[in-house]
This record gives sequence, C-alpha cells and structure tokens, in this order.
Amino acid sequence: MPDTSPIFDIQAFRNALVEWFRREGKDYPWRRTEDPWHILVSELMLQQTTIPTVLGRYELWMRRFPTPHHLAAVDEQTALRSWEGLGYYRRVRSLQAIAREIVTSFGGTFPSDKEGLKKLPGIGPYTSGALLSFAFNKPAPIVDANVARVLSRIDNYSTAVDSTEGLKYLWARAEELVDPDHAREFNSAIMELGQTYCRISAPDCLLCPVRSFCTAERPETLPVKNPKPEITRAEHHDILYIRNKSILLSKCQEGERHAGMYRFPQRDDDHTLSLPHLLKQTYNVTRYRVTRYIHHVTDAPALRPEEELIPLEKVHELPMASPDRKALNSAALGKLLDKIK
Ligand code: SF4
Repeated sequence: MPDTSPIFDIQAFRNALVEWFRREGKDYPWRRTEDPWHILVSELMLQQTTIPTVLGRYELWMRRFPTPHHLAAVDEQTALRSWEGLGYYRRVRSLQAIAREIVTSFGGTFPSDKEGLKKLPGIGPYTSGALLSFAFNKPAPIVDANVARVLSRIDNYSTAVDSTEGLKYLWARAEELVDPDHAREFNSAIMELGQTYCRISAPDCLLCPVRSFCTAERPETLPVKNPKPEITRAEHHDILYIRNKSILLSKCQEGERHAGMYRFPQRDDDHTLSLPHLLKQTYNVTRYRVTRYIHHVTDAPALRPEEELIPLEKVHELPMASPDRKALNSAALGKLLDKIK
C-alpha cells in the first residue's frame, strides 16, 4: 500500500465521490431495490453482459422469477431457456443453485453477513461484496474491472492488476476506502466513475469529481495487465438432419461448456466434410475464434447417446446457445425447413 496518508484524505475522497454520485449517478432498476435476490440477479447478469443488454432483459426476468422460490421450482431446462441471449450459462445454473440453497437451508431469506453468504454455492468475494453493500448497505469492498481501473489510476499503481499481488492490493485498498456510512452509494459511485469519466481510453480527467485525489501520471497506460492468451482458430462441422418433421439435436453433457443445452450434432468425418455447407458462422468463445459449418445430411447418421430426434414444433422450448439458435432461425435453414415441412 503506498504511503498516501499526508495528501490522501480518505473521508474527503469518499465525500467527493458520493456527492458526485448523488448528483449524476444513473438510475438503473437494480439501484431502486434493496432486495438481495434482485441485486444478485442483476450482478450475475452484469458480470459478462453489457448494461444496455441487461436493461432489456432484467425486468422481464424478474417478473418471471421474482423470488428465489420461483427459480428454485423450475427445471434446469426452463432456467437455461430463460437466460437465452445473455450467454455464459454457468451464471443461471449458479443462480438456480443459490436459489435452491436459499429455499432449502435459509427459509427463503438471504443471509446478511459475509460468513452466511460464504455458505451459498458459487458466491465469491465480488458477489459477496455486492450483496453486502447494495442490499444491506454494509461496508464491504468490491473490485471489478471498473474499480480496478479507478484505483490503479488514483494510486498510480503499476503492478499488473490481474496478478496475485495486484489483486491483493486492490482488494485491500477497496476495503480501506469503502465508506462505512454510505457503502451502497460509494460502491455504485466508484463503479460508475470507471464507466463514465475514468474510461479505458481517453479518461475525462478535467471533469473528474475526484481528480484532486488522483496521482496517475499517464492514466491511459493504467491499469497494467498480464498479456492475454493468443486467440486460437477452431473449425467445427455440424450436421442438419431432419426426418418426419423432427430434427436431430445433441444435448450438451455435464462438464461441457453448455451443459443441459441443445446444439447441432458435430461430425468431422470425411462424408460430412465432402458435403457442401448450408451455413457458415464465425463467433468467439473465450480465446477461440470459431468457424462453424452446418451441412445438410439426408442419410440417417449413426446416433450417439446424447443425440435425439426432436419434433420441430418443440425446438423453440429447448435451451440453445446463441450460435445454434441463430443458425436455426437463419434464412438458409428456414428455407430448407419450409421445403421439408
Ligand atoms: S483524474 Fe482521470 S485518471 Fe484519475 S480517477 Fe479521474 S478520470 Fe480517472
């Protein structure tokens, strides 16, 4: 921790940030509630999805699952289907596991302390800090990418923020700074500062409400991060097989990225590769740039245990990852399906 005490007045920093937030803070639906279930849902949605996308989904989702009881009561397939379009489906599985634990072990009520929250499956330091501060207004730290950027610039901190040492520093600093009297507003404010004035490129330091506390010499060079793994190209070949108004789909197995969801079956055999493709898609999955070809096969393929023929009118009820849903709804497949129907 740098010795910033002679010039860094922590309470003055808190006041400046919170006062700015009261004047300029954005009004999001998850900021109008103190219900920990609603906070948890918004936090999980926001972890990998942009605010505009979450804004389009959050309230609808909350109307469908207004309490942990509602999500705990549905099967996994329904939960996955409800999350479609948001991606990173481990989040909704985690949400459902937490909902079930809240219902079965906590009588439907969220614990309001760190020790209690630790007993819930998949709750790490970030989610715990978000629940404690946003739902219960307790002075718990949070560090996400925005907070890491603001703190590293305020302190002109040049160690990689994704290193063990960097993370330890940031969490300790966030804990030291969080306002004990206004934790909810303080944590919202520091996150929002990172989204508005303290942007990744071209930070707006002239107008920044905490510029007098900031020691960044070249803010656009901070935070420092470890190099990202290189993007690897991958090519997949899937098949479209239809018989008697049913389509062959494969259910992703436990341990797979999209466990519980349905996709086009994969075949990399010579026969499939020699067929022209109906559709070509490119998309990113973590560090992979995937090119996927879908080939129409008319000869019945040998079925694998995880594959099944599903009536076409039922397919919309099944959970599918975005590339598969987009393929199914594409003009190329639509024309073929119309002919077959
Ligand atoms: S002065 Fe600039 S670098 Fe420092 S916190 Fe504000 S926007 Fe970020």
